[in-house]
Amino acid sequence: MTDLYQQTIVDHARRPRNFGPLPGANRSAEGTNPLCGDELILRLRLGDRIEAVAFEGAGCAVCLASASMMTLAVKDCSASEAARLMQRVRELVAGGNGANLGELESLKGVARYPARRKCALLAWRALEAALAGETTKVSTEL
Ligand code: ZN
Repeated sequence: MTDLYQQTIVDHARRPRNFGPLPGANRSAEGTNPLCGDELILRLRLGDRIEAVAFEGAGCAVCLASASMMTLAVKDCSASEAARLMQRVRELVAGGNGANLGELESLKGVARYPARRKCALLAWRALEAALAGETTKVSTEL
């Protein structure tokens, strides 16, 4: 498993970016990955674009790193741009090449560990729910 914990993942997991509450948030979604115990809440301030994004929660290194990198990647994206990025990350952790995804490419190693894909995708599932205005908690097991 050691190659999962590359330097980028370790760095984001230790010092998650945009971690904390988000004043003025107008969208939020909770996500849970019961297989690993990852839990997070994602908050957005959404106008024409994602003006601000932050998350709080507890999870494994892959979950926290993916959430941290996601907040950096989707800020200032429109909802449709964020949806396209989400699709590319899904392909990456399923074994796709993920070219031009920047730091998110560090999640590539997860493709070899199917159980960890859910850790990597939890924040993205929550993003999808928040953008859709869903209020039910999203689970990787549903
Ligand atoms: Zn996890």
